[in-house]
This record gives sequence, C-alpha cells and structure tokens, in this order.
Amino acid sequence: MLERGEVANSWRRERWDSLRLLTPNWQSRLPGHSYEGPDPDGYMTMGEVTEFIERFAAKTGAPVRTGTNVTSVQRTDGGYDVTTSGGTIASRTLVIATGACNLPSVPQFSGALPESVEQLTPFDYRDPAKLPDGGVLVVGASATGVQLAAEIQRSGRPVTLSVGEHVRLPRTYRGRDILWWMDKAGIWDQRHDELDDLTRARRLPSPQLVGTQERTTLDLNALTDLGVQLVGRWAAVRDGRALFSGGLRNVFSLADLKLRRLLDNFDEWAAASGRDAEVGPSKRLEPTRAPATTRLQLDLRGGEIRSVLWATGFRPDYSWLDVPVVDAKGHLRHEGGVVDSPGLYVLGLPVLRRRRSSFICGIEDDARAVTEHLGQHLAQGQQ
Ligand SMILES: Cc1cc2nc3c(=O)[nH]c(=O)nc-3n(C[C@H](O)[C@H](O)[C@H](O)COP(=O)(O)OP(=O)(O)OC[C@H]3O[C@@H](n4cnc5c(N)ncnc54)[C@H](O)[C@@H]3O)c2cc1C
Repeated sequence: MLERGEVANSWRRERWDSLRLLTPNWQSRLPGHSYEGPDPDGYMTMGEVTEFIERFAAKTGAPVRTGTNVTSVQRTDGGYDVTTSGGTIASRTLVIATGACNLPSVPQFSGALPESVEQLTPFDYRDPAKLPDGGVLVVGASATGVQLAAEIQRSGRPVTLSVGEHVRLPRTYRGRDILWWMDKAGIWDQRHDELDDLTRARRLPSPQLVGTQERTTLDLNALTDLGVQLVGRWAAVRDGRALFSGGLRNVFSLADLKLRRLLDNFDEWAAASGRDAEVGPSKRLEPTRAPATTRLQLDLRGGEIRSVLWATGFRPDYSWLDVPVVDAKGHLRHEGGVVDSPGLYVLGLPVLRRRRSSFICGIEDDARAVTEHLGQHLAQGQQ
C-alpha cells in the first residue's frame, strides 16, 4: 500500500479545523473495526477520525509505505509499472484508492475576479480568523458551503452564499438521525446497477448536514436566521461584477420537493416495517424561505466582498495515471470498480457500487467485490 503522506492523510491535511464527520459514530465502520466509545450518536472530530483510521491500520497490520508518492503508472505486458518517489514497482494488478476529493473544483471564471478579492478553497481554509475582515462570498451550498458559511457569519464577517442545486436534509427526523433512516430504509444500499440515472447519482452534491453535539439542522432557513444573505448560482463575471442566476425560488422548491418525497418514503417504510411506534410522530418541514428580493449582481471592486471561498466541490486527480482510462470529464471509466484496463481497479468513488460507496461505511462491501474480481484475474493469469 503506497501513501504519499501519512496514514489518514486527507483527514490530517485537507480539512478545516472545526470539521466533524457528518456521519454519526455508529456509522463509522471499517472491516472488523467500529466505533466503541461512549457516544455512538456523536460525530468525530478530525483528530478522532485520524486516530480511528490509525488504529485500523495497526490492527490489520497493513503494509503501508508512507511518504511514497506515485508519480506515474504505465501498462506493461504483464500488468503495470508503478513509478514512485521511492523507486519503480512492477505489479500484475493495481487498485486505485486515491480518493474522490484530491483537488477542489473551481469554475474557470475565477480567473476573472479582481485581484483585490482574496480567493480560497476549502483546502486553504482552516478557520475564519485567517480571512480578511469584511464580507465573504461563499460559493456552493452543499455540506462544505453551508458549514463554512455558518462558521464565518458567526465570526462577524457578513456572508453572502451563492446557492445552486442542493440536497436539503434535516439532521434528525422523527427523533432519529437522518442517516439512520437512509441506512435502515435501504437508500444507502441502493446498487449502481439499480439506479435509473447513475451519472446523475454520481454527480449529486453532498447533503446540507453538519455534525454537532446539539444535532442541529443546517439548511438554508437556519443560515437565513443567522443573517447569511442568499443569492442564486454564480453564472459569470463581467467587468468585475459577479452575476448570479435568478430563479432562486425554483431551486428551493425543487430541493423542498425532493425532501418531501424522501420523508414520505421514510414514513412508508416505517409503517410497512412496523417501526412507527419506535420513532417520533411524522412531520413536514417549513418550506425554504426565499428572500424578499435577491441580488442578481455584486460589484467585486466595491470593497463589500473581501474574499471568495469556493465550496464548489472536489474532484479526483489522475494526472499520474498514464493509462487511457480517464474520460474527457476527468472520470475513470469503470464498471462497479473494475476499470476498463485488465487488472486495474478503483475504490472509494461516489456510487461506485452503492450509494454509500464514498463514505467510510461503504468500503467493506465494495472492497470485497473488487478483490474477488481481482483474485479471479490473478488466477486466470496463472492458468
Ligand atoms: C470535506 C469532506 C468531508 C467528508 N465527510 C465525511 C463524513 O462525514 N463521513 C464519511 O463517511 N465520509 C466523509 N467524506 C468522504 C471521505 O473522503 C471518505 O469517506 C474517505 O476519506 C474516503 O477514503 P479514501 O481512502 O477512499 O480516500 P482519501 O481519504 O482521500 O485517501 C486517499 C489517499 O490517497 C493518497 N494519495 C492520493 N494520490 C496519491 C498518489 N499519487 N500517491 C500516493 N498516495 C496518494 C492521499 O494522500 C490519501 O491519503 C468527506 C469528504 C470530504 C472531502
């Protein structure tokens, strides 16, 4: 196992200080290793996640070569040549487990912003005190965007949040964590080959969730209550002005509609599985409140906005992979983790085999299926 940094590198190096997992502790499961502490319904800090993964590495005795950066992979007759900062390794098979979130995704028009505005990504951000004083434009209202918008607004810097398509979820529903419902009702176990639109499922933004001791909901209504100003999707930059799409109400209605359908689904499941008495009463959430007027543009030269934080998602980095298996959009061509090149596999991508695939609790089943295929590939080679 080759790792360019240390065990649990992404959790140590690529996350902000206040982050906690949005998945509850009981859901942090790796093969033969699960949370055993006193607070199964809590959410781990980054230090706790790092320890959790370190303990797993020690328990399994995994042969991890840390500080070994893979700089190139080339196909050979018998498999792959893997060039690393510590020499070249010839391997018959290769499993890519480099993660789905190696680089922040930032729109191209970021290059057109005035230099007076500081630009950051979640990889640069650690805590609000390091931001310049003054207004902050947070772009993107998925898990990262809503969490950082709330934290920055609370620090006294007025936040404007640019909102595109998003997934609204309450932290708890009928007294249970929303991820309990996803888990029990089988949503997270939906398989890649059962979904109507797999491409869309793989591109779905992360849900508006935060892990706090109070189990608070962090949807757009909660942000409005905090004083965050909502604007539409950032569409372009013209003459130093940020131009936002209109139609915020439609975006809100769509997210509210999907949430209602999901909660209906949970209610039906609870009734059908005889669990109604175990959970609280069914209820519906207040619709997302649209601001009375929405700004369609913002002059970035005027001093109102001092920094822009791009919470516009992450993408994998395959710049080191010299095998023609990456499509024009930068995605690996694979079927359930079996990459389109013999002996090459991938794990840890969104909806790789199931909806839970890119979460900590998703790896066990996926890894089993992929290693089974890998074993067969090796056995065939020996015949
Ligand atoms: C902000 C954020 C919050 C998240 N919150 C949750 C959550 O609450 N719950 C949850 O279950 N999941 C969460 N996730 C998803 C989380 O990333 C995955 O659950 C998990 O980290 C995936 O593990 P992985 O090993 O596949 O990828 P990673 O954790 O990304 O690990 C990939 C490893 O590969 C190494 N690497 C990359 N390229 C190379 C190379 N060329 N050579 C050598 N080594 C390399 C990296 O250093 C890294 O250590 C979150 C993700 C992000 C970005």
